Amino acid sequence: MVDNLEEVAFDIPDGLLDEIQQNIQNIIRDFDVPEENKNEVIKQINYIYTRTKYLSITDELTGLSNRRCFDTTFEKEFLRASRYSNKLTLVMFDIDHFKSVNDTYGHQCGDFILKQVANAALQTFRKTDTVFRYGGEEFAVILTETDINQSIIPLERFRKTVQTLGLNYQGQEVNITVSIGACQLTSEMATKEEFLQKTDEALYEAKNSGRNKTVLSNFQ
Ligand code: GH3
Ligand code: MG
Ligand code: MG
Repeated sequence: MVDNLEEVAFDIPDGLLDEIQQNIQNIIRDFDVPEENKNEVIKQINYIYTRTKYLSITDELTGLSNRRCFDTTFEKEFLRASRYSNKLTLVMFDIDHFKSVNDTYGHQCGDFILKQVANAALQTFRKTDTVFRYGGEEFAVILTETDINQSIIPLERFRKTVQTLGLNYQGQEVNITVSIGACQLTSEMATKEEFLQKTDEALYEAKNSGRNKTVLSNFQ
């Protein structure tokens, strides 16, 4: 019996889990109990399985893909783009002075803003681009088949959208901005950590040069 899933050394592939789930259904079918009970048990197991899968990759507050999902997706996209020389741009963005939003309007307001920013991001980027809550008030977007020059238009559109959201929390207008860093994968980047580091550096440059900015790491 495993108490802590973090300690499991073998990461069960998704496809295998689905197969096991299917086999469990077959085992239940063989039980000597009324048919309607079997269907009920299968329905419940299916629900728990699907729900657990969903929760393991979803951020509860915003409904975005979570950090765990980012780690696996980012690795997959990094390997794919490196192998086939596909275009890939990584984006990190962070809400400016978010601590003072919490301090001024309260944490509930902070949570409300996180949800609104998440929605704005979902509406701005393409369906093929995944938006993640990386942690706290920091987000990541993986832009597949996109080079850094092509990323500027959606990123600037998103930055301006946030700036003009005009959020209203319990009768109070709350204005926020985001700082954005983006970087395109190049052949000199040997590891995904290096790629992430370069993107992070772009975000810090956006912060240090005044915030409410988009900094593109290797814009030509
Ligand atoms: P900067 O412009 O440099 O990013 O400043 P900042 O204030 O946004 O950054 P800092 O790292 O100092 O503060 C981040 C804040 O984000 C502090 C923390 O309370 C808040 N935060 C993180 N996660 C949540 C959350 O889930 N809900 C709420 N309401 N606040 C959160
Ligand atoms: Mg911040
Ligand atoms: Mg931050």
